[in-house]
Amino acid sequence: MPQQARRIAILGSTGSIGTQTLDVVQRLGGRIEIVALAAHRNIALLAEQARRWDVRHLCVADEETAARLSGEAVPPGSVVYSGRDGLTSVATLPDVDTVVVAVAGAVGIEATHAAIASGKTIALASKEVLVAAGEHTMQLAREHGTSIVPIDSEHSAIFQCLQGAPPGSVAELILTASGGPFLRATVEQMREATPDEALRHPTWNMGGLVTVNSATLMNKGLEIIEACRLFNMPPDRVHTLIHPQSIVHSLIRFVDGSVLAQMGLPDMRLPIQYALLYPERLDTGLPRLELADWSPLTFEQPDDERFPAISIAREALAAGGTMPAVMNGANEEAVAMFLERRLRFFGIMEVVHAVMNAHVPGPARYAEILTADRWARSMARSLVDGPQDCDNGTAGSAA
Ligand code: MG
Repeated sequence: MPQQARRIAILGSTGSIGTQTLDVVQRLGGRIEIVALAAHRNIALLAEQARRWDVRHLCVADEETAARLSGEAVPPGSVVYSGRDGLTSVATLPDVDTVVVAVAGAVGIEATHAAIASGKTIALASKEVLVAAGEHTMQLAREHGTSIVPIDSEHSAIFQCLQGAPPGSVAELILTASGGPFLRATVEQMREATPDEALRHPTWNMGGLVTVNSATLMNKGLEIIEACRLFNMPPDRVHTLIHPQSIVHSLIRFVDGSVLAQMGLPDMRLPIQYALLYPERLDTGLPRLELADWSPLTFEQPDDERFPAISIAREALAAGGTMPAVMNGANEEAVAMFLERRLRFFGIMEVVHAVMNAHVPGPARYAEILTADRWARSMARSLVDGPQDCDNGTAGSAA
């Protein structure tokens, strides 16, 4: 009997995860049908994707962009949505089974919650959904019996290792980190690090924010929070390990001491395919890992002194409520200022910590999360811009 195609909506189709998702859909032949595509402002690529896949539900950032998209060659009869409401509309279309959430920023939270409430399976790449709104998201998923299948490679690894694990059998989750471009750098080198150096990731090819987050290890800090939420694990049972080759994507340790790892090439298409097909597995011709080519695989403890991001993330997790959202918002803004060369590398974490110290966490409901996110961003900016003039472009106590 031929398998029925899974019908998906991709939120963030023109980004790094979105375009790789389309590559996987191509490899899966007729197994996946794309019902809706949402992008921010890259209308040329969105229109091209819509034509290629004959997708007639399209969403963009705002009404003005929607008007411009309607002027592009989109499939006849296309419905163009825009803004937050539009994103929620495409995430809850009755024809959609699975929603791939790969949008940048807090904008994805509301649409994801609506999709969960309408019974969609969530293939989740956006970190904000679990970092800023993790408790609320997981509670909604439990209430509606919805599966959230992670696309993030570490969480996909843990999710795969957990298949068939009896309740109460897992002692510890171990997230691996490549260590980023500054793994072997001295404090002095890191102090002077330029955006170009921070953007030179040794193993993964990703967007600017995620790459800088790998250089500071904030990416791992965010992933600790994600893992605690997604797998309902207390923070003291989620650990990190530096693994420069990025072949072991993460591990779990059972109560009897046995350790299970998931391995693969550093290629996001595999976790994407797993999330789209879960729990099924298919050969789609993705490149194979030959372990002998990657010898030796090495592991080491992260250096907290040069990389304070992990302990900062643990602080945010312990404070709870809106604090992880504040940490995330402040970090995104600080990274942007670093890329604008207005903040030095170590200044990123100094700004994040200073913003957190100025925040009193409240309950993490959607409205409060958005308010906290906005406040954290403007606070981060004001810490660097300050009331005084910045004559050398790196002024302020954080520089
Ligand atoms: Mg990751």
